[in-house]
Order: sequence, then C-alpha cells, then structure tokens
Amino acid sequence: MTSIHDDLLPIAAMERAVDIVLSSPHPTSKVAAALFGRDQNGDDYIIARTNHWPEKIEKAFGTDARIADSSGTIHAETACIIAAPLTKDASICVTDPFCPNCAKNIVEAGIKAVYIDHKGFKKDFAARRGHDFENMSLKIVERAGIAIFEVIRKDKIIQPIQLPKSGYRPKSDNPPLINEIGLKTSTKIFKQEIEKAKKIYGEDEPFVVALSRDKHDHIFSISFSAHRSRGIRNEETPAPAAKLEDKYNYTIPPLNRLMMGAHKHGQCVSPDYVYLSHIPSARELINLMGEQDIYTLHLDKRKNETKYASPVALAQLQKAKLLKVKFI
Ligand SMILES: [Zn+2]
Repeated sequence: MTSIHDDLLPIAAMERAVDIVLSSPHPTSKVAAALFGRDQNGDDYIIARTNHWPEKIEKAFGTDARIADSSGTIHAETACIIAAPLTKDASICVTDPFCPNCAKNIVEAGIKAVYIDHKGFKKDFAARRGHDFENMSLKIVERAGIAIFEVIRKDKIIQPIQLPKSGYRPKSDNPPLINEIGLKTSTKIFKQEIEKAKKIYGEDEPFVVALSRDKHDHIFSISFSAHRSRGIRNEETPAPAAKLEDKYNYTIPPLNRLMMGAHKHGQCVSPDYVYLSHIPSARELINLMGEQDIYTLHLDKRKNETKYASPVALAQLQKAKLLKVKFI
C-alpha cells in the first residue's frame, strides 16, 4: 500500500536529519534523527541530533575509551528525546532502522509515529543490525501501538511499514507515580518519597524516585520501577540472535524510564534528588551524560545489583567527576 500524506512535515523533518547525518562524529555508523511535536505551550518544535559522544564523556575520556563494556556514544533517537521539552504524541524521523534500546526509549517517551528514511535500509548498518530491527525493534513499537512509516524523500512518498491494528491500545500496566508535592524541593520530602516508594514497589525491586518540576515550577515526586516495554508480555523472550549476544532485552530499567518518562510528561528532573534502589546499567549512565547537569545519584547502601548493573561504569564516571554518588 502506498499513500501520499497530505502532511509533508515528516518529509521536512527527515530532510533535517539527513542534512546533519554526516556531521556525526562516529567514524563508521553515522545516524541522525529529528523529533517533532508540540511543547508545553502548544508551540511546534523540531530537534535534530546525530549519534555522538556526550560532551562530558568526550572531555573526560576521549572517544576511544569504553565506559565499562559500553561505547561512550549516545544514539541519535535517544539524544533527541532527552533534548525535547515534551515528547508525548511527538513523531520521530530516523535515517536508519533503529535499535531495540532506542525502540524502548521511543515507547517510554510516548512518541506516536516513527519515520525511517528508505535509504537507511540499504546501508551497511541495516545489513549488520537488520535482525535486531526486524525481530525486536519492530515488535517493541508494534506492541506499544506506534505506527512506522518509510519515507522516500525524492518522491515525497510516505508509506506504512507497520500500523497498529485499528482500535489497538496496549494497557499501561505500570505507569509512573507522579504526585505534586508543593513549591519547594527538600531533603525531608525526598526521603519521605523514597520510603513511600519502598512500600509500594518492595525494597528488593529496581526502582527510581526523583523530584522534578513542571513548567509552572511546581514540584513533583516521580517514580518508576523497571518494567517490560509497553504491550510486551512477561513470558516473551528476546529474538534468538539478540539473546545470543545478550545485548538486548525487553525490560526498561528505572533510570532510563525516568529520563524518557520525564520528557514524556514535560517534567524537568532535579539533578540533586534522584534515588535508585539498584545500581544502574552502563547504558543508562551514558544516556544520563547527555543531560546538561551533573547529577547526584542517591543509591541504596546495600549496593543492590540487577543482571545489567554496572558498578564499573558508575565508578568511572564518579572518578571523572561527571556524577556524584551517595549511598544512603
Ligand atoms: Zn539506538
């Protein structure tokens, strides 16, 4: 089925992504994305980013060092989300088929449509990572009810690759807990919110609690536990190749949920008030380096770890003074 959209905005946004893709500092995989939507005031915005080394990482480690077992780069799609004012119901254009981790972040950010440049399917990256895209990324966005289109720029054609079934709406079984708490942040309130979250989620569950503010400077407590990407059932296991590499899974860990979820809800996290019950993964910490502020992570003093925890990445970033860590 081929259709020509009346709305050519996705084509214009794709042009923005294509315009900057060669400026990606990555020597071999150059990817760009452009995210467009409406901000808290109802004004249109468009944000374009390439995959890149966050400035903090590049200054402290250069581009060759690894952060634990991870590359220090942040992906273009995720970089767009964390630069955006409000991502709920936004759309994203990408130059290449996206990876399962970005797929989960796109879902968590509340994005409603993804557009992929048709030339992206012909590149080397697509050949190398095509399996993960077809078996995991597509499924993650499909289950979340997100539409995916292919864009053929020169003919101004936008054609669906995968559309949600009519009327399909996955249930949100584990939404964040967001409570307005007043006009001021304080350590006392932060600690009370941590205790409340421990009771709700259970002390052994991976979860995050943060204080955040909205556009009116009202303060909120915002908390997330780790969960399966929306619409993915508990018994589902990753596609065989992904499992073999143990590179991707269907769970979104709490710190990633916080970063994406805050942008979904137009909330700005206070960098001094973030608590994690478990040590985060290297990937989450690298994404956090894409944020402007230096964060203080309050961690449970029992130093709990999940399978994906990276105490090594935590120590590297702490030593480089790119984040502060307090065990409480
Ligand atoms: Zn990605």
